[in-house]
Amino acid sequence: MAVLHYIHMRDSIRRQQIESGKTSARRRARIVLWSLPVLAALGLGVWLYGVNRHVDTVIAATEERTSQATIAFDELLPTLVQRRIDRENAENEAVRELVYQRTLDGYTTPPTLTNSRCNYLTSHDDPSAIDVLVSKKNCLIPLGYEPTTKTVYGATLQTEAADAYKQMIDAATADGYSIAATSSYRSYASQVSTYRYWLNYSGREEADAYSAYPGYSEHQTGLAADLGTPGCALGCFGRSAAYTWMNENAYKYGFIERYSDGEEAVTGYSYEPWHWRYVGIDTATEYRKSGATTLEEFWGTS
Ligand SMILES: [Zn+2]
Repeated sequence: MAVLHYIHMRDSIRRQQIESGKTSARRRARIVLWSLPVLAALGLGVWLYGVNRHVDTVIAATEERTSQATIAFDELLPTLVQRRIDRENAENEAVRELVYQRTLDGYTTPPTLTNSRCNYLTSHDDPSAIDVLVSKKNCLIPLGYEPTTKTVYGATLQTEAADAYKQMIDAATADGYSIAATSSYRSYASQVSTYRYWLNYSGREEADAYSAYPGYSEHQTGLAADLGTPGCALGCFGRSAAYTWMNENAYKYGFIERYSDGEEAVTGYSYEPWHWRYVGIDTATEYRKSGATTLEEFWGTS
């Protein structure tokens, strides 16, 4: 009996052991099963945290770079501006020279040291006289000369020239011709900006072709006017009836055609039928009688 009891006990213990082994295996499986989503959630959390940190770092780096770039640009800006100024200064060397001199001596002394283009006439060199000669080779002395002007019928001219211009326009109007100035007095400053514009726009060669060098324009004396008639300015004016009237009558009021056809070598300008110059009635009359076609030739200054 005791033996049987023993066997029974032993089997029972074994069964229990087996059962309990099964139970702990199931528990382990359950723990593993439950821990998987937890681990996955944890992993996801860590990953998300990492991603978040990375994004933050990228944003911070970008912000840093942007601010650095802004600082760099801010620091660079004066350099860029300076570089541009330097370039303009180099291109405008001649103009700058004149502007500098203008500031320096306030027009009081001839620009002999800095102005290499000018011939310096010994006659016809008084800018306030009506017989002054100004051309591409002969500058005004001082370069920044400013005449006393008066505006009549939209034309701003030196006082004496303005009075003569008024009489001439009145006479033309009485004869049935409509003549008006498209350009008259132009100051040194406006010539500087015009010349500077062309210089920046298309370089020295074209600037010289399209714009008079500051201090070298007859318009700066207040003695010249560019004329037009309704619907016709510049070259077209030369083919108008108003131009024919000017050719026959302008001298009576002291005006002459300044840049005649075919005289470019002497005057420095090609034919400009629109550009008229006041020289006074006496000179204009003599000029007409002499048959001269340029002031340079007439005055012996070429
Ligand atoms: Zn002109």
